[in-house]
Amino acid sequence: MNNDTIFALSSGHGKSGVAVIRISGENLSDFMERIIGRFGPTPRHAYFVNLCDNAGEIIDQCIVTYFTAPHSFTGTDVIEIASHGAPAVIEKIFDFLSQNNMRMATPGEFSRRAFYNNKMDLADIDGLAALLDAQTDVQRKSALAGLMGRDSKIYDTWRSQMIEIAAYSAAILDYDADDLPENIGKTVREKIKKLYSEIDKALSHYAAARAVRGGFNIVLCGEPNVGKSSLFNAILGSNRAIVSDIPGTTRDVVSATIDIDGYMVNISDTAGLRKKTTDKIEKIGIERTNSEIKNADLVLRILNADQKFPSRGGVAHSAGVVPADNEIIVINKSDLLKAKKKSKNTIYVSAKTGDGLNDLLSVIRKRLHKLTDGLENTLVINARTKTLLETAHNELKSAMKIRGDNFDLISEHVRGAADSIGKILGTITATEVLDATFSQLCLGK
Ligand code: GDP
Repeated sequence: MNNDTIFALSSGHGKSGVAVIRISGENLSDFMERIIGRFGPTPRHAYFVNLCDNAGEIIDQCIVTYFTAPHSFTGTDVIEIASHGAPAVIEKIFDFLSQNNMRMATPGEFSRRAFYNNKMDLADIDGLAALLDAQTDVQRKSALAGLMGRDSKIYDTWRSQMIEIAAYSAAILDYDADDLPENIGKTVREKIKKLYSEIDKALSHYAAARAVRGGFNIVLCGEPNVGKSSLFNAILGSNRAIVSDIPGTTRDVVSATIDIDGYMVNISDTAGLRKKTTDKIEKIGIERTNSEIKNADLVLRILNADQKFPSRGGVAHSAGVVPADNEIIVINKSDLLKAKKKSKNTIYVSAKTGDGLNDLLSVIRKRLHKLTDGLENTLVINARTKTLLETAHNELKSAMKIRGDNFDLISEHVRGAADSIGKILGTITATEVLDATFSQLCLGK
């Protein structure tokens, strides 16, 4: 691999108190000595310096730290310059570095070096990419566990067990039955089954893991005028908004991203779900609503508390409305009711007065926790790892289906599974996998 000297801004862009510029290369001690103005710099020691350009003019007052290979993020020599965060300072430092035979790094190039120098495997890098994207506390925790090697350890264990099973299966055919441990065939089969069910369990968490990373989808639906938009705004108002994009037409799907209890939630207000309509545009809106509902992790079905609903003695109820597993029935406009009929499946709220909003949020929180139950102890699966896990899963399934003494075939399938897990870690890898993994990262990482 090319180990020429590269640099990039590792801190965020825009005006800031401090900017960190990271440099990676082979043998950076001469350059370090030059910028701090003394011989024999102590690694991992912070030096306060007047950083000067080639002409001797001071660029800025900086803190400079030196890391010697292999004890650095990349495994190469690294210098980190912490300067003031002004764009003019950063630009001047970049000019200075370029004039000293260094070049700007490409996105993810530092991590690529870390990978080639065995500082990180691909599962760690997936964790790092997820951590850099983390906007909520749950995302942070789950990504950090991936970055800190939890996932690599699980994959490593699976892979070595598979290699061992494959070797055993192959050996069964090479040795006399008398020379082999008793019941070896049965043991091999049991071990394959155990691995299969572990991978099966990890895959079953995929939807929740994806939702932690990309956000849970909550959809508000119901007939026109039940108060969907009002409730949407009320929910938005009581939670931290992450981003909100609110397109113009009321018939469109309006959505925003908020943080509920550390979970990233994409909440959408949909077009009214009138059963029959002749209006073309409204029809399109309803089609979009139905597709939103299909992709939702949670649907809030909003009903109206006023005259529209069957009521006895002024009490609205949801008799006959059975919520689906991913549905919560919400009766809005509770302020118009004299009394509320308690029901297990329904929550009364008033978007107008805010009454019941906390109850609704606490039910939503409970559902989110339930969806992610046990997730903190399992793998962070992204699209890349999912495909590879599925391949391993299928290989083990094929191995389990083989009857009789066909142990060479069993061995082959289990080896196939081990290869697939190896690809997750990057132990066995193709260039396009590496390119896809590193390109998730930004400049300076
Ligand atoms: P949407 O068509 O379902 O999005 O309904 P809107 O949010 O536009 O509300 C329809 C009408 O109901 C508006 O006039 C709102 O002011 C009113 N409304 C919404 N929520 C409440 C509520 O909790 N109580 C009362 N009294 N009126 C409400």
